[in-house]
Amino acid sequence: MIESINPFTGDKIASIREYSEEQIDKVLEDAAERFKGWRKTGFSERSALMLKAAEELRKNTREYAETITAEMGKPIKQSIAEVEKCAWVCEYYAKNAETHLASEKIETDAVKSYVSYEPLGVVLAVMPWNYPFWQVFRFAAPALMAGNIGVLKHASNVMQSAENIQKVFERAGFPKGCFQNLVIGSDKVENVIKDSRIKAVTLTGSTPAGSAVASTAGAEIKKSVLELGGNNALVILKGANLKKAAETCVQARFQNTGQSCIAGKRLLLQEEIAEDFMEIFLEQVKALKSGDPMKEDTFIGVLAREDLARDLEKQVNDSVKAGAKVLCGGKRKGTYFEPTVITKVTKNMPVFAEETFGPVISTTTFSTYEEAVELVNSSQFGLGVSLFTDDLEKAEALVPLFDDGAVFINELVKSDPRLPFGGTKISGYGRELSIHGIREFVNKKTVYIN
Ligand code: NAP
Repeated sequence: MIESINPFTGDKIASIREYSEEQIDKVLEDAAERFKGWRKTGFSERSALMLKAAEELRKNTREYAETITAEMGKPIKQSIAEVEKCAWVCEYYAKNAETHLASEKIETDAVKSYVSYEPLGVVLAVMPWNYPFWQVFRFAAPALMAGNIGVLKHASNVMQSAENIQKVFERAGFPKGCFQNLVIGSDKVENVIKDSRIKAVTLTGSTPAGSAVASTAGAEIKKSVLELGGNNALVILKGANLKKAAETCVQARFQNTGQSCIAGKRLLLQEEIAEDFMEIFLEQVKALKSGDPMKEDTFIGVLAREDLARDLEKQVNDSVKAGAKVLCGGKRKGTYFEPTVITKVTKNMPVFAEETFGPVISTTTFSTYEEAVELVNSSQFGLGVSLFTDDLEKAEALVPLFDDGAVFINELVKSDPRLPFGGTKISGYGRELSIHGIREFVNKKTVYIN
């Protein structure tokens, strides 16, 4: 049985039986069969269904959001925002898939030659619990619009959300088999990737999980996209609007109770403004309201599982032993972790070198731009970086020096259906969202006519 436990109350919400070999086979067979018809559908038919999915998400937002909050402890307002964002990505691809995948004429010696973007077939999505709806929809909306079929292996602690996502597509009227939830543990993923009916795989999750999945996909010569962990820096340069920067940094680090790949986890402060910034920032962090995630005014909920909270506690304690200083928070109670600000952090400490997946931010100071770039790039991860400054020209000149997949200036790193999203280094490869995302799982077919 795969169980969903409410991390705030400790209550068991539901348990669901893991699929047998026969059930897994049936899911893959239905998916492969459905592809034969789905690939022939036109964009207008797919768009109409995708808009219905958006409608369903907007109509029953609360129902889906409450399950997210119950399963993984996200404050309800943030769960509602997550479901609404899923509706947006469905609407975005319903409107734009056809132009994103329009054939591209290329002048050659032929009478006619062009690239045709065609679906690959059944794509397996291995997904994490931290944005149980968003991570799935940002894969599913473009994949289905491109004519692919989706099979989901969701994180084991959010299987009710996984069932709900399948329900969204069923309620929207998608033909049976277009999108199915596969109720399996991670030990079954390897065999599913090896199955000839699976043509490609995408994984959002930790670096070890990504490495395991990509190894199998590589051995099978199957396309993979990896969206893995991050250790984003928030760089505050002298001259920045400190109050606004502090507000943005609080959001960047503490939304979703700090459990986000693109959260700003390392605060890098230019020496001249470090003290002033920290005073404003600390005041805002101390004012964050922790509590019952089902309550509308809660901003900090609990971590999704107690083992994750314990891992975070160890990273904090080990950093303190190595000389870091806790300015606020630092304590764990069950699945709850206090919003925590740590200073005097150096490069070798766990809270700097590793990804911290919870409401903990590390602070380091620097004096020159070169030093800031070096600190940002010293991470093994490469998802994104935020710069805060009043000198936009200087900031733009720094952009090419960063290794990351995204640079945001005077803004937190965030995903947006219109912009590509993805990382470098151990944060993964490939892109999701925008025209780049929908072109990941397609056969870029060369057509030559004489
Ligand atoms: P996780 O433990 O890696 O799990 C992610 C998914 O992979 C789950 O469905 C999990 O299944 C499965 N899995 C784990 N080990 C596997 C293996 N060896 N082979 C095949 N599948 C495996 O990650 P998580 O704790 O759910 O999520 C947190 C991580 O995801 C963080 O590192 C975060 O930064 C990253 N993340 C990245 C992005 C991005 O866009 N870059 C977005 C969100 C999260 P089980 O649950 O059954 O183990």
